[in-house]
Amino acid sequence: MSVDFSRRKFLRRSAAAGTAALVMPSFVARTADSVLGLGETLAPSYTGWADIYRKQWTWDKVVRGTHLVNCWYQAHCSWDVYVKDGMVFREEQAGEYEPVNANLPDFNPRGCNKGSCFSEKMYDPTRLKYPLKRVGERGGNKWKRITWDEALDEIADTWLDVSLKEGTDRTILDLGPGIDVGVATAGVLRFGVASRAIALDMNSEIGDAHRGAAVTFGTMTGDRSMDDYFYSDLILYWCNNPMVTQIPNAHFLNEARYNGAKIHAIAPDYNASAVHADLFVPVKPATDTALALGLCHLLMVEGGVNEAFCTEQTDMPLLIRMDTKGFLKEAEIRKGDYKNTHLFINEADEKIVAAPKDSLSLGDYKPKLEASATVKLLDGSEVEVRTVYSLIRERLKGYTPEFVAEICGIGVGMIRRMFKDVQAAKAMANVTSSNINKFYHGNLTERSMILLFALKGQFGQKGSGYSAFPFLSLDGLDPFALISKPDDFKALMHSMESMMKTQMAAGKTQEEIIYDMSNSMFIPGSSNFEGVQEPRLTCGALFWSIHGGIIADNADKTHDPFAKRPMQEYVDESLAKGHQFVAPDPGNDPRIMFSISSNSVRRVRGADAVLKNLYPKLDLSVVMDFRMNSTTQQADIILPVAGWYERTTHKWVTTLSPYLTVTNQAVKPYFESKTDWEIMGRLAQRIQDRAKVRGIKNFTNQDGENVRVETMGDWYTMNGEFPLDNDEKVMEHILKWSTNADVDWEELKEKGFARYKSIGHYVMGVGNMCEIPEDDSITHFTYHTRDKVPWATDTRRMQFYQDQDLYHEMDEVLPRYKHSPQIGGDYPLMMTSGHPRESVHANWRDSRIMLRLTRGEPFIMISPKDAEDRGIEDTDWVRVFNDVGEYHVRAKVAPSIQPAQTLIYHAWESYQFPKGSPRSVMATPMNPVELSGGYTHLRPVFTWSQPNIFDRDTRIEIVKLNPDEVGV
Ligand code: SF4
Repeated sequence: MSVDFSRRKFLRRSAAAGTAALVMPSFVARTADSVLGLGETLAPSYTGWADIYRKQWTWDKVVRGTHLVNCWYQAHCSWDVYVKDGMVFREEQAGEYEPVNANLPDFNPRGCNKGSCFSEKMYDPTRLKYPLKRVGERGGNKWKRITWDEALDEIADTWLDVSLKEGTDRTILDLGPGIDVGVATAGVLRFGVASRAIALDMNSEIGDAHRGAAVTFGTMTGDRSMDDYFYSDLILYWCNNPMVTQIPNAHFLNEARYNGAKIHAIAPDYNASAVHADLFVPVKPATDTALALGLCHLLMVEGGVNEAFCTEQTDMPLLIRMDTKGFLKEAEIRKGDYKNTHLFINEADEKIVAAPKDSLSLGDYKPKLEASATVKLLDGSEVEVRTVYSLIRERLKGYTPEFVAEICGIGVGMIRRMFKDVQAAKAMANVTSSNINKFYHGNLTERSMILLFALKGQFGQKGSGYSAFPFLSLDGLDPFALISKPDDFKALMHSMESMMKTQMAAGKTQEEIIYDMSNSMFIPGSSNFEGVQEPRLTCGALFWSIHGGIIADNADKTHDPFAKRPMQEYVDESLAKGHQFVAPDPGNDPRIMFSISSNSVRRVRGADAVLKNLYPKLDLSVVMDFRMNSTTQQADIILPVAGWYERTTHKWVTTLSPYLTVTNQAVKPYFESKTDWEIMGRLAQRIQDRAKVRGIKNFTNQDGENVRVETMGDWYTMNGEFPLDNDEKVMEHILKWSTNADVDWEELKEKGFARYKSIGHYVMGVGNMCEIPEDDSITHFTYHTRDKVPWATDTRRMQFYQDQDLYHEMDEVLPRYKHSPQIGGDYPLMMTSGHPRESVHANWRDSRIMLRLTRGEPFIMISPKDAEDRGIEDTDWVRVFNDVGEYHVRAKVAPSIQPAQTLIYHAWESYQFPKGSPRSVMATPMNPVELSGGYTHLRPVFTWSQPNIFDRDTRIEIVKLNPDEVGV
């Protein structure tokens, strides 16, 4: 049977009938009933045009829902989802968030332009209906419909063949940013635990890993709630454009400004947020580090350093040996077991004192910030030592306003104007952004910005603080993913509590213990709990760079003058030292790729190399998604996944809007689509069944782990306790087993959202290190600033001095400015990017409604001067190229763009270009320092402290194309 069930066709028919889109419910209901068999086919229920308008506000039910998409900072909004005759026909913002207190703006209404038309997107022609199998060449986009049984049999048999012959680490679970960290993730994790497949940690690959925050704080997580900006008096839009990227949050920023806060927008382009700023600072792209350090320099010489904060909370008073350039340790000057104890000079008596390790509290001590001394070592020799602060001060001497003005391309007067506001600010805040980390030297930028906040002591007070990575989620997911039966939950919690107790008694903080546990998931064969197998993670950036052949193809196309060795050597060294990890081992080719809510062919910078090098090695490419996209086109088997209003789960959120947000199943899954929970469970069961048929017994894998194929499906459902057709029961238990929410499931599902009670134990939330007050905003890091809990770094302080080999080799021990390297070759234009207003990553990128809000097709923005120099006019087709490759796209001549800068908003699907895509010119390098390890704050933890890969400073040239050259 072939049925055209597209919204497009419906609209054509509607238009022909002279009706409007709002008639959809009745028409669609008839179609749905006949196709889905939901009931008897209905006769038209209206007899004239007036009935259409009478019926448009009728529905069968309304449930609360949200969108399981990585809208990230702006996530996640509660919506009323309207259902009529088995179809969703509209959605409306819930608008019921209670005021936190009478003096703060509330969270109503939350939503964006994309979310408000998901009901259209869920029925458009890209929607997947049935399992599909490739016909012909991979990537040829030809398909035949197959049954679920056929699909599962093929996947299960291939998995058994590969796992027995080559190892379970040859199967890759590429979990895209569309994961919910709820029921779907529980399914994928349980399948991963049972099958011992490798789950890619894609956060650093995406460029969201906030490396600068991670090395400074020991965590990349840490952010406020949006209403906290109401307490700010200076807000920095630095490296971001929140009016576009944080639509549901933007009103808080505007209200803060109305409340008296000044806004500074620091960006190369005059963007939609800059137009609302009090000061627009148009720095050249990738020069923000110099500006931040210039402001730090002015604070040091003109006043404004908060010495009490710096001495208590940071490594600035700690002593550095001038001979080795390493921290002076107590074991070097006194006998005893003082291996990790750092030292400072006490101001009152000039004595060298060990910095307290178990608390940030200094007691009666007052460390000197600016100091040097000669110290006698145990072997009798003498060395000169200086404080980190002294070294910072010396390093910053050169960052005068004149020097910074030259680098950044702005006037000295503008720098001084910005400084005046920074110096005067009582509550200075930035707006979180992952744009920074997508630049090659973004880690230096972020470290420099944090230094500015630290020098001013702008942490832990209402309305102040550097915003890094915002995250909150239920902490009941991990136990759910690990246990064999519900009764095991208590035993697992008991083991965890006793481990915490023992390790905290030994001096670790709870935060550090959670990071230890997360780190172990990158190490083959390790487990935190006796007899419990945990998910096995690997760094996505390293995976694509090594197994995808990006390093092999492109490493020679990035020219970093500071890198003394080839990229391959840095990578080999890091893996050999166990600083970073990749699985499978280099040389062992991946064989099965599951792309799960992951449009990696669209997303991964250097995807062209991945298609060329990795895909031919795959025996099977399986894509689980709800829509056709660039990655499904490269699949061997596509499994259709239920849409966001067709399942019940919760979605991770952020501290910015600290509300646990659920989506309820409003309608049945579309055609034959199924939820991730059901798909992964069916696959586990099918592997169990096929193993039995083929006489395959439980086996031990390449890492000595048990792979229990004989009971894989039974284990997945905990022997039927969690049936595959009941996502809601899983959700209910994740909630029940979470410590950071205090709400009954029935109440939550009805209301759609509830305020979190605490940050919980989840690895990505614990770093916020603060309470979630019922009646006030969230201000992050107060456990450090108020309660004096040490930071999760080697020095147990906010750490600006990175005493590690690679940081020494690259001269990045302290923050500094480095010129952006020539990524992609020696070309005159820099390709920058950003998140667009019209899509959330690739979701909605092909939406009929959203395309109407922009030019309807991809375009690259170029300055009028660069366009004129090249004879390019607005809407001309152009060829974008460098040493890596080329793509064709239309030009948009934009006065908001600086000369030498270009900007192409991200997430266009590959098939939206006539030739190539922006990925075709991305050399996708790694920065050697990000391969470092060996210290508590420099080792991989889920989502951070892994190498990023970069696209923002890619160099390109652009030439005009004649119409007959386009696509050729
Ligand atoms: Fe909110 Fe994200 Fe949905 Fe937009 S897409 S309405 S930001 S949840």
